[in-house]
Amino acid sequence: MIRDDRAGFEAGGPLAPTKRDILRGVAGTAFTAALPFVASPALGQTGKAQKHVLVLGAGMSGLTAALALLRRGHRVTVIEYQDRIGGRLLSLPLKNGQFTEAGGGHFRSNMPYVLSYVRRFNLPLLSLNDGLPRYMVGGQTGTGADLANWPWAVSREERNVSVATSLNRYLYRAGLDTDSVLDSRWPDPDSLARYDNVTVGDLVKGVGASDAFCQLLDAHGGTFTSRSQALGAIPDLAYHFGDQNVFRIEGGNNRLPMALAGAIGPANIVLKAEVVSIEQTSGGVRVGTRDGRDFSGDAIVSTIPFSVLGGIDVKPGWSEAKRRMFAEMEWDKTVKVIVQTKTPSWLSKNVHGWPMAGGDRPWERVIDITGNETGSHGNVFFYLNGANAEAILARPRETRAQVTVDQFRADMPDLFDEVITVKDFAWTEQPWIRGSFGSPPLGGGWMIREWTMPEDRIHFAGDFTSLKTGWVEGAIEAGLRAARQIDPQVEAEGRPVIRQSL
Ligand SMILES: Cc1cc2nc3c(=O)[nH]c(=O)nc-3n(C[C@H](O)[C@H](O)[C@H](O)COP(=O)(O)OP(=O)(O)OC[C@H]3O[C@@H](n4cnc5c(N)ncnc54)[C@H](O)[C@@H]3O)c2cc1C
Repeated sequence: MIRDDRAGFEAGGPLAPTKRDILRGVAGTAFTAALPFVASPALGQTGKAQKHVLVLGAGMSGLTAALALLRRGHRVTVIEYQDRIGGRLLSLPLKNGQFTEAGGGHFRSNMPYVLSYVRRFNLPLLSLNDGLPRYMVGGQTGTGADLANWPWAVSREERNVSVATSLNRYLYRAGLDTDSVLDSRWPDPDSLARYDNVTVGDLVKGVGASDAFCQLLDAHGGTFTSRSQALGAIPDLAYHFGDQNVFRIEGGNNRLPMALAGAIGPANIVLKAEVVSIEQTSGGVRVGTRDGRDFSGDAIVSTIPFSVLGGIDVKPGWSEAKRRMFAEMEWDKTVKVIVQTKTPSWLSKNVHGWPMAGGDRPWERVIDITGNETGSHGNVFFYLNGANAEAILARPRETRAQVTVDQFRADMPDLFDEVITVKDFAWTEQPWIRGSFGSPPLGGGWMIREWTMPEDRIHFAGDFTSLKTGWVEGAIEAGLRAARQIDPQVEAEGRPVIRQSL
């Protein structure tokens, strides 16, 4: 059962829940992590005019923008389609007090904004293991722990080293490194021109990677494959392969957006409010919701996924370039099959972590998020994308998750003991996004300029308006960028240590 995030919030705001309601934790226990909100009197002091900003969407990007603007003394109204806070951070309770993640599942220590926000709100962390997987590729099996006996025809220099080590070497040879590609100013114009029209496979093969290595990279990485556009995939590879310290938030990752919402305050957040129209007038902006409510303000920060935003009635109409961007951005199809086992029995087979298994099989990848979570059960999910996600969704809803588990057990019978929970979560079935991650197609580098440029009073945010798409780090970075377009003095929460490598 999905926990009730509506504590204290109801449709039609402004809302007046008790502070205790808002701060209630994922498990329903008192949530003491959020800091009380104190609006900064900054604008009054500088003599600048306060603005009323309508923030569309209560995911991490919208909440980041809203809190940052509020701290500067602006007025904000967050307008959210769903009856819950958090968007793609959606934590689901499992047996014995454990939690899984239908959306954003883990963070790494090369994500300075995430670290800073987590610290600021005093959220407790669980440690996960980085991937030491068993691979099944081309009908053959090998493990990350037994590099000497890999059966695949990797090249001499790919022998005896992990996928991460080889990938980092290839990035280095291509003139890239896992720090500079995470700089918010990347890609520089040269890199944009160089990587816009190449795939990850073209990139690494151009500097010596074998076909067998590319297949292993696909098995390990999952979402972005050797067929993905390099520009969009390189930061993703840097997160996965540039840092081995993996964690999530104890009690569920959506404690983070809940903490931000607590600081923003319920009076400033309206739930169950699907935006269906946006109008810009000479004096401001107006937003209409499906149930007939109207909101007006001075500016908009929209974090509505482009897969949905393109269908909203906008006056005056979008520019041609924005319309093209909404239509051409590619959205991944992702299904998570969530599984709890009696114990994390795979640990005794020397495989674990993110991912613990991967291959060219229909079950695609298994991610072990158990780490040091208490509750004693094994906690994993299958991460199905593209054709594998479509295949599973074509099956009857009641049995589709179990089929994935059965396929996996037929291939790797020794890894799971008794399976005690099986369920699935399909991202294409969510009407408020209809997909999981948005990124530019091959040759779509022009979109970077487009998503950065406001359309008059409408500013764009959301992780899909960054090359860190599919990452909370990108959502926060984009939320801050949009807020700074409205007020350049806006600051992040805490003291993020942002490395600038370019
Ligand atoms: C399967 C999956 C796995 C992931 N794994 C990771 C991971 O391991 N680590 C990591 O850091 N990140 C991960 N992510 C990505 C992370 O969840 C996102 O980067 C982040 O949550 C995005 O925040 P956002 O605010 O940009 O967008 P969202 O969270 O999508 O927020 C957009 C909001 O807009 C609202 N909205 C939509 N339409 C309307 C409308 N018409 N009117 C009003 N509101 C509307 C939506 O309801 C939603 O709340 C994963 C995501 C998915 C789906």
